[in-house]
Amino acid sequence: MALPPALEENKPVTDRRRWFLTVLRVLFALAMAGLISQIKLDYIESYLYDLRVRHSPAPTLSPQIELIFITPETVQKLKGNPTAADEARLLETLAKENPLAVVYDFDIGETAGSMADKTAWAGTATQMRHVFVSAKGLFMKGQEEKLPAPFTALPLLPAPKAADSLNFGKDGVTRRTMLTYQGNKMLQPTVAALVNPALSDIRNVRGRFDFIETDQAYIRFSPTGSFPHLEFTQASAGQFSPGRFKDKIVLIGQDLGISEDEYVSTPYKRDVVAMTRLEMQANVLNTLITNSAPVKAPVWLNWLLIAIVSILTVHVVLTMKPLKGLAILGIAFLAVCLFGYLAYWPLGYWVSIAHPLLAIFLCYYFFIPYRLIVENRRSWEYYQKNRLLKQVEELKGNFISMMSHDLKTPIARIQGMTDVIVTDSTPVSSRQREAVDTIKHSADDLLKFINAILNYSRIESEGVHLQLQSKDINAILAEVIRKNEFLAKVKRVQIISELEPLFPISIDPDLIRQVFSNLVENAIKYSPDDTKIMVSSEEKDGKVVVQVADQGFGIPTDELPNIFMKFFRSKNAKSSPIKGSGLGLYLAKYFIELHQGSIFVESSYGQGSTFTVELPLKQG
Ligand code: ADP
Repeated sequence: MALPPALEENKPVTDRRRWFLTVLRVLFALAMAGLISQIKLDYIESYLYDLRVRHSPAPTLSPQIELIFITPETVQKLKGNPTAADEARLLETLAKENPLAVVYDFDIGETAGSMADKTAWAGTATQMRHVFVSAKGLFMKGQEEKLPAPFTALPLLPAPKAADSLNFGKDGVTRRTMLTYQGNKMLQPTVAALVNPALSDIRNVRGRFDFIETDQAYIRFSPTGSFPHLEFTQASAGQFSPGRFKDKIVLIGQDLGISEDEYVSTPYKRDVVAMTRLEMQANVLNTLITNSAPVKAPVWLNWLLIAIVSILTVHVVLTMKPLKGLAILGIAFLAVCLFGYLAYWPLGYWVSIAHPLLAIFLCYYFFIPYRLIVENRRSWEYYQKNRLLKQVEELKGNFISMMSHDLKTPIARIQGMTDVIVTDSTPVSSRQREAVDTIKHSADDLLKFINAILNYSRIESEGVHLQLQSKDINAILAEVIRKNEFLAKVKRVQIISELEPLFPISIDPDLIRQVFSNLVENAIKYSPDDTKIMVSSEEKDGKVVVQVADQGFGIPTDELPNIFMKFFRSKNAKSSPIKGSGLGLYLAKYFIELHQGSIFVESSYGQGSTFTVELPLKQG
């Protein structure tokens, strides 16, 4: 009869099927990765980038950058914005220090003052090594602007702030700077090249990338206030240690708090006035001089990371236990964050981590329902299987006990009839007597077998309730040996007992007697004639230890693990005329474990076996 589907063994997963499933999972994961990589996550990625900037050590600063600020204090002291005369005075003071370059980060053409003062200012500037003026906007090729007279000789170069307002993070934060526009160099790379000549070729700038007719690079920001700075009037009055500005790049700009244009938001702080434009220029110059702009990792690396994370997540969700899976995904999440962090610091690479992190979440939530459906189906199948098995087990139990009961009566009748023949005085031939003896022994064996099965099915259905009594184990052993003496004599097997005096312990004597009887009976049964059996008892490590050792056939090593299983009989026993049910050791183990004890066997095939029972001195 074919088994119902629920009882059929699960089909073994072949290698080909396993490969097919693996490839299918990888393809699913890659499809997910492809979809995820299409999602625009610039805002989140930029935020995660800022976190990396904020939580890594500030970059080393070039000692060559000095800032001079026009502040509200300057306006107060000068009773107005610095005029051309004030500016000329400051530049004269600086000229004495012979700085490498002076950079004005504001429109000097708009400075109030007489033409004479402006001429004097411009005169000093042209005599100095390098003086640059920055323009806030970009010049189109062919539309380059010049400063008005008398500053026409001074180079006016664009140095606009490149905030992420319309592109990338779209959060108004300044993270990058322009290096060229339509091939024309901006102010910062021009000034930086004075210190780091390699930068005269813009291709040497680390992390340079193209973006709509411009070359750009990310700024390696340091926190606000990192660069050495001085207030305008203090600088022009020479209130600084001599030589402070020698060979330096001096940036002069405003911190008046009037116009939003003077400030930028940085990865450190998103406030509109997080950092002055002047300090941003210092950060740009520092990034270029130290050539340490963060490099945006290539797209393929981003893709690879998303693919790896997606494959891992799909694999974990579909194959692992929920809690272990969650732990692994948690670790994967942290690993991606750590990878992103370590790539940024100390390596200076900006690896996108927003997509891989999203991949963990999306793959998890996308594949969990599928896993749930599979699990549900599996547990339903198990439930069905279990129900059927229970029914089959019940039927089997009923059948065994019914059969055994019905067999007992005819056997009892056979035994009775053979007794009648044996005790009858009518003479019988020796062959007839032999036949009657064989019938009697067979009937005894059969009854024993039926009793064993009945005993087992009663225990299986009702369980056993221990009837504990304080008993001397040695007394039970002596009784068991005595009862088996006849059996031993038949095979000329000698039973030697070495019983150490013991204190009585709390046991169920009937069950323990059954266990030892089985061990001694087995030792006689499975031993050849003219051998010895040793039964010993002792107290050791707070336990009563009983051993039954024989010089019998022994048990093959591969069968040892099964010896205590129900209905198990070794191959040799089954093929021999020795009778048995395979239940004795199963029940022995069950009874001993009910007493919180243990039973085990050591055996060398062909040399003998030793069964050891350990019982606790006190029942817990
Ligand atoms: P059985 O009724 O078959 O003796 P048991 O549960 O008592 O059932 O033992 C299970 C099997 O363990 C036996 O069939 C036999 O193969 C093996 N066995 C048990 N005791 C010994 C022993 N002393 N020497 C060798 N084999 C043994």
